[in-house]
Amino acid sequence: MIFYNPSGAPELACDECGCRWFDRMTNTCYECSAVVTPEALAEYRRALDAFQAQRSAAAAAGGDPAR
Ligand SMILES: [Zn+2]
Repeated sequence: MIFYNPSGAPELACDECGCRWFDRMTNTCYECSAVVTPEALAEYRRALDAFQAQRSAAAAAGGDPAR
């Protein structure tokens, strides 16, 4: 599942226990060892791309809503 932090950035969270701690080397949850599915990773990357596109568009417009 995907959470959004207060600044609007997406964060990947475990489907099983909801925690956000992952072993990036093996793509497993630190808490319950659930494997992060490729679907979840793809969804997270899309959300991250959308967030960065939105942020760079805002910066190009001269404003930085994150500050
Ligand atoms: Zn977990």
